[in-house]
Amino acid sequence: MTARAITFVEVGPRDGLQNEKMLVATADKLDLIRRSIAAGARRIEVTSFVNPKRVPQMADAEDVCAGLPATGGVSYIGLVMNARGAERAIATGTLHELGAVCVSTDGFAMANQGQTSAESVDAAKAIIAMAQAAGLKGQATIGAAFGCPFEGEVSEDRVVAMAAALAEANPIEVALADTIGVADPAQVTRLVRRVVAAVGPIPVRVHFHNTRGTGIANVWAAVEAGATVVDAALGGLGGCPFAPGAAGNVSSEDVVYMLHRAGVETGMDLQALIETNRWLAGVMDRELPSMVAKAPPFPKPVQEI
Ligand code: ZN
Repeated sequence: MTARAITFVEVGPRDGLQNEKMLVATADKLDLIRRSIAAGARRIEVTSFVNPKRVPQMADAEDVCAGLPATGGVSYIGLVMNARGAERAIATGTLHELGAVCVSTDGFAMANQGQTSAESVDAAKAIIAMAQAAGLKGQATIGAAFGCPFEGEVSEDRVVAMAAALAEANPIEVALADTIGVADPAQVTRLVRRVVAAVGPIPVRVHFHNTRGTGIANVWAAVEAGATVVDAALGGLGGCPFAPGAAGNVSSEDVVYMLHRAGVETGMDLQALIETNRWLAGVMDRELPSMVAKAPPFPKPVQEI
């Protein structure tokens, strides 16, 4: 049965901006985080702790964490790829969650992290344990869960087995990411159902990119199949270096519009997201890829007499 409410995770400050060539000022990133909170976001992926030579946009990870507003009830997430990143994230003292990443194929895991897929699962479990030992929450994402830029089709059995292995570390959730935006809704339905069955009662989160226009359909398929946590990025920013093309993450405002119209609560304020879209377009100096902010409001607001 479709959930009547999902937990919304804003990933714009990290995944949305990560591959933008224009370096966004730390102050603008913090403004985006503040505006997301004002729009209702209660979980926000604020940065990642990676090699700044590889990802220059995330070189200010510590500065972003130092500037985070101390807002009760908001969980700040730092994405980490290895133990060194986890140490940096824990040392900031302002994060509540560490997000680890493992990848479904050896080809991608080697290119991304210089390890096998199995080694990436072990590394993610170790990061979850480091988070827990530091009093933080730990969660993990299976990257390229629906298709791989190096190996093509990905075995669903492999992804289910990885999810079950991650669940052994007792994360707060296990996420499936369509890193390169190739998933289709039927595949999402099958895989999310299987992973929900494999890791329950641990919640399943989903992360889609709209590279080929299927992102929003995949969000719906995932929610119907039992996913209860959904990632999105304001404005639909967030291309992947392995997946050339303009479109990025599914956009926060498009996802929220769709879910609210379909009767699924997100806790988000659509109008505030649309206003933040306009602000962010100014920061990025271009129109953003998402749709809802370009369309007239629906239903039409009641006119004051
Ligand atoms: Zn992504």
